[in-house]
Amino acid sequence: MEKMKAAIFKGNGILKVEEVPVPKIERDDQILIKVRAASICGSDLHALHVPPGQVYDTDIVMGHEYFGEIIEKGAGVTNFEIGENIAVNPCMPCGECWECKHNMRNLCVKPRHYGQTCDGGFAQYAIVESSQVYHLSANINPDIAAQTEPLACVMYSLGMVKPSPADYVLLYGAGPIGLTYIKALQAYGVKHYAVVAKGAERIQEAKNCGAPFVIDSQNESVAVRLQEEWGQLADIVLDAVGRGPVLSEAVKLVNSRGRIMLFGLNHNAVSEIPPATYTQKELTMMGSLGKDFPASISLIESGIDLTSFVTHRIELDEINDAIDLLNNKKACRVIVYPNGIE
Ligand SMILES: [Zn+2]
Ligand SMILES: [Zn+2]
Repeated sequence: MEKMKAAIFKGNGILKVEEVPVPKIERDDQILIKVRAASICGSDLHALHVPPGQVYDTDIVMGHEYFGEIIEKGAGVTNFEIGENIAVNPCMPCGECWECKHNMRNLCVKPRHYGQTCDGGFAQYAIVESSQVYHLSANINPDIAAQTEPLACVMYSLGMVKPSPADYVLLYGAGPIGLTYIKALQAYGVKHYAVVAKGAERIQEAKNCGAPFVIDSQNESVAVRLQEEWGQLADIVLDAVGRGPVLSEAVKLVNSRGRIMLFGLNHNAVSEIPPATYTQKELTMMGSLGKDFPASISLIESGIDLTSFVTHRIELDEINDAIDLLNNKKACRVIVYPNGIE
């Protein structure tokens, strides 16, 4: 039996690279891909935290942000060809729960999820269902193609917030998701946006991505800087940090009728907010969990640059070192190449 390397989640904060059998196609709608590149998500860090901020099943191959080349396909797969590059939507709704039956399949309460409840992409090969994949062009940049999923999440959330070029947008967070938001806001034509970031590296990365100004959360008052730079509060606050205190601050920094978008899922986060502020300002608060793959792929194929914040390109064996670097904020976007760095 052919073997491959895969990073398996063992529970209790443990991720182990092991030799396991290459998975086999068992149903007509399945595709075997050679994983070209994968990216490490903040959710993976939460899942590896003890206690976990997100709960994954144990003994599964982790990794839900990846793309690959089709090696083999089931007889029922007619619209994808061997040799083609595909992006993978890891979340497979159950079709049975209340959410699924009310046209909210992205909010399915018991989805199968590659890299979280079943095998994912931190491996040399992976099985995916044909309902979950999208065409990518032949000469796509692998560092960017590996980020199709996080960009799809960001584009879905912006589809809810609907920023206009005239809006003033305050973005919390300059990690991989925050920086992806910067690129997406630029694509939306938003002119006035500010980034709140922590630590010299993150502040510099936000500037490198083109942020008009970056507020140092440890040494500056966000309210004071907004008044200095804009002379007003924000129309939209985007929380790409996912820790509770940001929400408490956001309600003070948003204009009347403003929108607050909560992105990032951390079950350990808690927030205190005064409900009266919502009433007085007629605020709208939104959360987003969906993924807009067509929007993401459209931006990627038209040249959105997500490479400036790729700090590490690694082999699968180095994944635990990279996770330590991410936890210590010494890395930003890490791209894993299970079949060797391209
Ligand atoms: Zn993710
Ligand atoms: Zn469901």
